[in-house]
Amino acid sequence: MNSTMKAAIFKDIRKVVLEDVPVPQVNPGELLIKINIALTCGTDAKTFKRGPKKKTPYSQAIHIFGHEYAGTVVEVGEGVTRFDKGDKVVSANSAPCGYCFHCKRSEFSLCENLTWLWGTFAEYIKIPAAIVKKNTFTIPEGVPMKHMALMEPLACVVHGIERTGIKLGDTIVINGAGPIGLMYVFLSKMKGARVISTDLKRDRLDVASALGADIAIKVEEDDDIVETVRNHTEGGKGVD
Ligand SMILES: [Zn+2]
Ligand SMILES: [Zn+2]
Repeated sequence: MNSTMKAAIFKDIRKVVLEDVPVPQVNPGELLIKINIALTCGTDAKTFKRGPKKKTPYSQAIHIFGHEYAGTVVEVGEGVTRFDKGDKVVSANSAPCGYCFHCKRSEFSLCENLTWLWGTFAEYIKIPAAIVKKNTFTIPEGVPMKHMALMEPLACVVHGIERTGIKLGDTIVINGAGPIGLMYVFLSKMKGARVISTDLKRDRLDVASALGADIAIKVEEDDDIVETVRNHTEGGKGVD
């Protein structure tokens, strides 16, 4: 294996540059992954256009872009027993510490010592030990890598669906039929809801319908969406 790799480095707003950088060295507990698929998340797009959010690793002047991937294990750090070379894997882009104030209350997204994973727009990425331990998963046989790379956004949607308490027969509205909205449409149907999907774009609504939305409403900028949606609910009482 070469000692350097190609990586897309975020330099500044609207400036991401392909450079040769060292292939990361693996420490105990870590994995080195060859990236097979990397996705562009909304966070990446926003960072590219507006610059990094403060207080995230994106605020470092130079870093490798991207945080969603599916890949193949090429090196296994000392002490790692769950993974072998050649395994196809996917990771979430963070892992909670498990022992801080919030972790003890199962509020993992508020963890005070989150470990982050950035840098999937490269040939290789090193997975930190905490993420190897808690948030890295083997891809089941027969599942395409390009599907598994969607695990992180899908996990966010699964979490959201569980928190809403959607019940069989509820009528719900999902405003926006982008990737996240479409995942909500699909999972809400699995929960047995009657789903109204709204968006400004017809082509997105077509996908929502294909994924099971019962009603797809194309809204205009100045529409009264609340009123429009009410008209599609029993007795005009609104969604559940
Ligand atoms: Zn993401
Ligand atoms: Zn914590």
